[in-house]
Amino acid sequence: MSQLRFTVVKEAFGHKAVDVNMPEERPSQYFGKYVFNRQKMYEYLPKKTFDALVYAIDNKEPLDRNVADSVAEGMKQWALDNGAKHYTHWFHPLTDGTAEKHDSFIEHNGKGGVLEDFTGKLLVQQEPDASSFPNGGIRNTFEARGYSAWDISSPAFILGNTLCIPTIFISYTGEALDYKMPLLRALNSVDKAATSVAQLFDPAVKHVYSYLGWEQEYFLVDEMLYSARPDLMLTGRTLMGHDSAKNQQLDDHYFGSIPSRVEAFMLDLEIECHKLGIPAKTRHNEVAPNQFELAPIYEETNLANDHNLLLMLLMEIVARRHNFRVLLHEKPFKGINGSGKHNNWSLGTDTGVQLFAPGKTSLGNLQFITFFVNVMAAVYRHNGLLKASISSATNGHRLGANEAPPAIISVFVGKQLSKVLDRLETSDKDEIIDMAGKTGKTLGVYQIPNLLIDNTDRNRTSPFAFTGNRFEFRAVGSSANCASALIALNAAVADQLNRFRAAIDKRIAAGEQLNHAVLSEVKALIAYAKPIHFDGNGYSEEWKAEAARRGLDCETSVPIIFDSYLKPESIEMFERTGVFSKVELEARNEVKWEIYTKKIQIEARVLGDLAINHILPVATRYQSVLLDHVAKVKSLFPSEKFDKLAASEMQSIEDIAEHMAVIRDKVTQMVDARKIANKIENLRDKAIAYHDTVAPLFDEIRYHIDKLELMIDDEMWPLPKYRELLFIR
Ligand code: ADP
Ligand code: MG
Repeated sequence: MSQLRFTVVKEAFGHKAVDVNMPEERPSQYFGKYVFNRQKMYEYLPKKTFDALVYAIDNKEPLDRNVADSVAEGMKQWALDNGAKHYTHWFHPLTDGTAEKHDSFIEHNGKGGVLEDFTGKLLVQQEPDASSFPNGGIRNTFEARGYSAWDISSPAFILGNTLCIPTIFISYTGEALDYKMPLLRALNSVDKAATSVAQLFDPAVKHVYSYLGWEQEYFLVDEMLYSARPDLMLTGRTLMGHDSAKNQQLDDHYFGSIPSRVEAFMLDLEIECHKLGIPAKTRHNEVAPNQFELAPIYEETNLANDHNLLLMLLMEIVARRHNFRVLLHEKPFKGINGSGKHNNWSLGTDTGVQLFAPGKTSLGNLQFITFFVNVMAAVYRHNGLLKASISSATNGHRLGANEAPPAIISVFVGKQLSKVLDRLETSDKDEIIDMAGKTGKTLGVYQIPNLLIDNTDRNRTSPFAFTGNRFEFRAVGSSANCASALIALNAAVADQLNRFRAAIDKRIAAGEQLNHAVLSEVKALIAYAKPIHFDGNGYSEEWKAEAARRGLDCETSVPIIFDSYLKPESIEMFERTGVFSKVELEARNEVKWEIYTKKIQIEARVLGDLAINHILPVATRYQSVLLDHVAKVKSLFPSEKFDKLAASEMQSIEDIAEHMAVIRDKVTQMVDARKIANKIENLRDKAIAYHDTVAPLFDEIRYHIDKLELMIDDEMWPLPKYRELLFIR
């Protein structure tokens, strides 16, 4: 056993950087090489088909079947030219991650041989046998089958030797069984709502796009060491392990120089990203040892999210080429930072205006403030829902647990903008805003561009922070599908903007001037959304108390947090915006509770196995060594020498016995709690039981295992230790 650990550690530490297969060309030459983008479409499609496809994409219109046949033919040619042998509909089921089922291009040619075939029908729609994907009962209640349908707004790509076609996944009766469908609905609704508000300022605006720039944090672990840790392999996190004497206390990892093995991995990953059109831009070390980050240039949200899912897939593939395993879990190690995925989010018009960037004119600034306060109001109104949108069994470790910020959503605004909002709220001189867009007359308060140039006013503890021209939704977990957060956020903001526009229309119908109407509503929203505004230390105990006083959602139990999806105000909001029906929301919550339960259940089993099969036997063996020593001292030395020669071992024997007894006891307790919870039929109640009665035992068991790790002979300890896992050589 011990021998295994030492061999593994020795081999892991012996790994050198793998030589990366560097393309000769520059990034601009291979960027998008494996993407069926407009350039490839132009090259491979007849002009008429190209025009029809581009028109359908740009105008969000369905594609004619005949055009689809022609697109499929061109796409097939391109794919075959690039070595693809198979195709697949690539979709985003309610488990995190992506799903694919490959089909070969071959068909009988009727002459005894085969040919490569791919039709519009196969491109546009398929019926994967998806009965084993989570669906919360929708597919039982409605129709037995589900189907996947091409999302023409996201380009097809080749991964390995397979042509991947991004698709939505829905039931025959139209209920979404995935993340992409509701995301597209939310993006449509925010487009419509934001366009109607932006048109108050500029009638030329036809569309508003939602943008996303995610920052993916992750850990790397040597593959050898990973393979010797059943907890990492089966749950994605370490369920035990004493702190390393050195971890992140010296702050020497963040932005530190990147180890050569890791740098080779990053380079390889970036090259793969670029070939697949993912605009990977930034890489650096993160705070914790072995923790890193990759961020792309931001893109339209649907595409950006496809790219994030594809990136997570690529990371696993590329990591293995470098003898690493990538950990996307939100909290793989106790005592050091966890991993998030900051979602930088903004709205921008088709006329090129960023709606969360202060304008250069008083009109531009009023538009900025209008959108800004509407976001605050939406986040305030739906703070519980937004928290639910980022909650999961794994992200639960990052929010509201030990060593984590509290599970409370608040908005960081920054000093300068806070001042502007305060002054605006109390000022009664709204006549100074010139809605015709002249720059002349402004009050000091509208000179926002100058004020905001310095946006270093950063607050790392805020879950939702304004950062100069965008909001950063930081509470999103590293393993999550960003769509979950962005469906809720875009829908909530769309609904709020619709309310706003309706309020303006009402005022105008009553004879008010537009500028007065807008300012009055803006002032009302500033006042309304005050409780969500918090610029202080979000990690402090005082904030928890203050947030509760303000009536913000402070629930910490993940299964109960999910209830927010089913509150009347959430259901109404989702139905009004056309993002989810009540049936879909109910079904999706069933899935959430079920996944929560299963994750905790798996962790409980792994922890139980490790404790009983790995840890206790080693503890017994070490205890026997000590007993042997004591017995020999006793038989060989006079009794007055006994204390000097064996007292410390005697003490250890007793301490070990005590820890072992508690471990055995608590594991039994955990198994019993599981048995009781497993009998519960209702999925919500079962998840709550797992949260309340099973999960709390993890830390108690771990505490005693970690104590044993400090006492038992290092040579006997069966699992790679934190100091070995966390420092790549
Ligand atoms: P930091 O760590 O300082 O927040 P990064 O450079 O790591 O910054 O990541 C910032 C992310 O925000 C990048 O993906 C970037 O493209 C994205 N971003 C920048 N401006 C916008 C914007 N207006 N809308 C959405 N995302 C943006
Ligand atoms: Mg950031």
